[in-house]
Amino acid sequence: MSNYLPLDISFASGRGCYVFDENGQAYLDALSGVGVVNLGHCHPKVTQTIQQQADTLLHTSNWYKIAQQEVLAEKLCVLAQMDKAFFANSGAEANEAAIKITRLYAQSKHIDAPIVITANRSFHGRTMAALSATGNEKVQSGFSPLVEKFIHVDFNDMAALEAYRDNTNVVAVMLEPIQGESGVIIPDQDYLNQVQALCQQNDWLLILDEVQTGIGRTGALFAHQHNGLTPDVLTLAKGLGNGVPIGACLAKGKAAELLTPGTHGSTFGGNPLVCAVANTVLETIENEQILENANTIGNYIESQLSQALADSDKVIEIRQKGMMIAIELTVDTSTLLQQALDEHQLLINVTGQAIRLLPPLVMTHEEADLLINKVTQLINNA
Ligand code: PLP
Repeated sequence: MSNYLPLDISFASGRGCYVFDENGQAYLDALSGVGVVNLGHCHPKVTQTIQQQADTLLHTSNWYKIAQQEVLAEKLCVLAQMDKAFFANSGAEANEAAIKITRLYAQSKHIDAPIVITANRSFHGRTMAALSATGNEKVQSGFSPLVEKFIHVDFNDMAALEAYRDNTNVVAVMLEPIQGESGVIIPDQDYLNQVQALCQQNDWLLILDEVQTGIGRTGALFAHQHNGLTPDVLTLAKGLGNGVPIGACLAKGKAAELLTPGTHGSTFGGNPLVCAVANTVLETIENEQILENANTIGNYIESQLSQALADSDKVIEIRQKGMMIAIELTVDTSTLLQQALDEHQLLINVTGQAIRLLPPLVMTHEEADLLINKVTQLINNA
């Protein structure tokens, strides 16, 4: 169908921070398949796990216990300080699970018309409930009637949230810790802490969508760890599988008790293959000091780009946390994706007026220098 408009190129292979076209031409990948291959392309440990698991058992059913899933649930719950996990196949599906939990939570509180507060300029996925939660009319356009009832407030605006303090229909607040799709929008340092305090005062669930910010992207395993808090519900996908499709919805406390047998499910969700891979991803992040590298290289890219572009009147600002980077520009950005590809053999994302970079977290200093060089040239020639 015509829902994508791909650039006229396809890639035949990948290794680390590079992908290669059919002619063997290398491209530096500063997008990671939109924040997915955090360990780089074809990481040997991931490849080995896929091969071994494919040779052992790919799929059974959630009607039977799945050892790899139990290990992954345990591991994620320890790492995120959560109590229980549900596994899906994508970020949108992980968020669907979170939204279903809000419905059950409302029922437990005898609230008939529950409201979930989400943020303007947020992105939570393309399924009906997830796009209804999304604070972007372009994503919602054409798909009415939307799922009720999401109220959108400005991100990083406590007063906007406080205004709902007395609304007894509110059951949850759902946010990205850093807004990814709208261009790496980083809130004030204590915003999430204040949101959590408000949620606790009002008995609202705090749902954090870490589909993009999770699994090391911001230099912590989960972005909310920068705030020293844990949400009630946490959603993950993208980097968790490093390219195999997996989503997870974790919950703690009362939020973890609401899904009971028969209330939710997924045929593929949490199968042996994807869980074995996700277990390897988490082990590799720890064993290979990936978080440290994401911080070091992310900060390096930011500081070098800031220096290189200090005198550029084309740059409004650079926003960065770990390996989540955006460069807000004054110039027309509509041709930058193609230019990056054709002229610099570079994969990036452009969102609105910003170039967004989500490089693999395994990027070396040399590769970062190359990236900085290419991006600087791209902007200077724009
Ligand atoms: N939530 C966030 C924050 C995202 O960035 C995305 C995808 O970009 C999604 C949800 C949707 O994930 P998926 O495309 O895997 O459904």
